[in-house]
This record gives sequence, C-alpha cells and structure tokens, in this order.
Amino acid sequence: MRAEVVAMDAEHLDMEAIRKAGDILKSGGLVAFPTETVYGLGGNALDPEASRKIYAAKGRPSDNPLIVHIADIDKLDEITSGVPEKARILAEKYWPGPLTMILNKADIVPKETTGGLESVAVRFPSDRIAQELIRAGGGFVAAPSANTSGRPSPTMSEHVEEDLGDAIDMIIDGGQVGIGLESTIVDFTEEIPVVLRPGYISLEMLQETLGEVRMDKGLLITDSKVRPKAPGMKYRHYAPRADLSIVEGSEEDVIAMINRLTEEAEAKGEKVGIIATDETESLYVGGDVRSIGSREEEETIAHHLYEVLRDFDSDDVNVIYSEAFYTPRMGQAIMNRLLKAAGHKIIKA
Ligand code: AMP
Ligand code: MG
Repeated sequence: MRAEVVAMDAEHLDMEAIRKAGDILKSGGLVAFPTETVYGLGGNALDPEASRKIYAAKGRPSDNPLIVHIADIDKLDEITSGVPEKARILAEKYWPGPLTMILNKADIVPKETTGGLESVAVRFPSDRIAQELIRAGGGFVAAPSANTSGRPSPTMSEHVEEDLGDAIDMIIDGGQVGIGLESTIVDFTEEIPVVLRPGYISLEMLQETLGEVRMDKGLLITDSKVRPKAPGMKYRHYAPRADLSIVEGSEEDVIAMINRLTEEAEAKGEKVGIIATDETESLYVGGDVRSIGSREEEETIAHHLYEVLRDFDSDDVNVIYSEAFYTPRMGQAIMNRLLKAAGHKIIKA
C-alpha cells in the first residue's frame, strides 16, 4: 500500500479530501497531517486497534504514550477526569496552539493510546487543516510526530512520505509547518505544574500565567539516572544518520574549532556537514555548510532544525559539527532537541 497524498492549504481547504480522510480515521486507518508544530500521524484515539497501528507504523516503543488532539474545547471533559483550574487557565490562554497538557484520563481513552498510563496528553492545534480533519475523524485524534521512531520529526510532507509512505493510508500535504518543533508539554497530575518537554511556549511564559511551574528534573540533568517523566523523552530521538557533535564556546572559538575538526575529518576521508547560522556561515573554510537560520530571529532556527538534519542524511554526510543555540526564548526547546539528536555529544571549544 502506498499512501495517497493530497495537497491543500489552510486558505483553500479541500473539504472532500478532508471528509475522505475523516472516514479513513473513523474506520481505523491512519492519516498524516500538518499541524503548526510538526506533521502528525493520526489515528482514532478511542480505538485501541488504531493506536496499535500507529506504534507499528512508526516502530515506536509501546510505553511511549500518544498525544490526543481535539478541535473543540468542549471535548476536553469527555476524555479527562477532573481538569484543574490552572489547566483551564492555560487552555484559555494558549489553545488552540502548541501546548499539550497531561491530565487524568477518562475511561473512554484506551490504555493503548496512553501507553498504559492513567493520564492522557491533550492538545488543541491551531492549524486549520488539522482542526477540520480532527472534526471529520470523530473529534479525538491520537497523533505522534509522523516520522519513523528515532528520526528527525517531519516538517514537510516529503519527510512523511520518506519515512511512512508505505505504512499508512493517506498524507495531507499542507506545505511546510510554521514552528518546526513539537509542542510544550505541561503535566497537571501533580500539585505544581511541571514542564515535561520544552517547546515554543517557554517556562517563563507559563510562569507568567500560572505562577510556580517547574522543569522536569529528568530534562535538566542530562546523563544521570534521573528518568524524564514523559516516557518518550528517555529515548534517542531526532537523530541523523551521521555522527553529530555540538561545539560550544565563544563564537570565535567555536568557528576555529569547527574549522580545525573539519580539516582533520576531511583529511581522513569523512564527508563533513556544518550547522552554522546566517551570521557565521561565510566563516567556515571546508565542509558542507548549511545555515539553520538567524540568531536575530530564533524562530528561524527552530523552523529549520529537523530539515537541516534530514538534508545532511540525503547528502550522505557522515560527520556533523553544529554550533550551539542557547537563544533567549526558544533556546531551551532547540537545545533539548539538538542535544538528543547528538546523543549529548558536546565538544568545548
Ligand atoms: P510525540 O508524539 O512524538 O510528540 O511525543 C509525545 C510525547 O508526549 C512523548 O514524549 C510522550 O512520552 C509524552 N506523553 C504523552 N502522553 C503522556 C502522559 N500521559 N504522561 C507523560 N508524558 C506523556
Ligand atoms: Mg516524536
């Protein structure tokens, strides 16, 4: 089976195709679709068989729960039990948008969808194609990122086709996504809300709205035995095929170090990729240099991260050196993904 690919954009929705995609979901099939964060691989969240198919298509470990997507705020109470006031405040402020909340689940949500947990992750995406598809598919769509488990998340439909084209029924191509990094996940099953995965909505933005909010300890400590609370955060993720290292230090030292490492690796016959920025790309001497975006506009760095990693795969690069991107607002989220992609390999310049 090869997935049918249907292209549309948010201003010109193809409602017939969306109805067809909704019917696929209702009958237990899988449809990949764009959201404002990354492409999602959707299945009916209330159908245990559909959830099993999602895990199989991605090769995802079955203890890594799925996020349930809704497109109507009233649906929240149908799949959760006892939504705390702070969660409602956050939903009011950031939904629809790149925010996922962990809440106690209602009985209708099968354990297959929640990886065996009593809690459920819920998000209301702002992408219009996603919203119409969710409504057409019955209102509750389980959707992890639409990549093979472990690979960089897909930010365009070509990435989805590459990974899952033979494993699913349909792909809705809505062009390149806006944000390019997965949603911020906030856990409300404890007294004080906890960030389990950083994203576009930063810790500071959450604290401004809610007061005290913590970062999950497993996120702050990179190589200890402290396990992240989101089961998925413990797995290697987003990894390109090449051996990726992050080079940290002052701009000048980083450029000098990457130039030296590149020269050495190329002398050994390696094909080297360099992840630079608009500000630095002209300062590298060798290697296949790609600018990920501009430090002046940190959104551009988030937007291109996964694409750059996939492009190096297509170029058969086998060693990658990347600058670090501790930018003011999204740095936490960007570096969380980049460090995972690099298996936490850091070189101090
Ligand atoms: P993805 O679907 O690829 O965006 O990944 C979803 C992330 O949400 C994974 O890191 C999961 O472990 C996490 N997650 C989903 N449901 C829960 C839950 N009930 N409790 C904690 N983490 C969750
Ligand atoms: Mg993922």
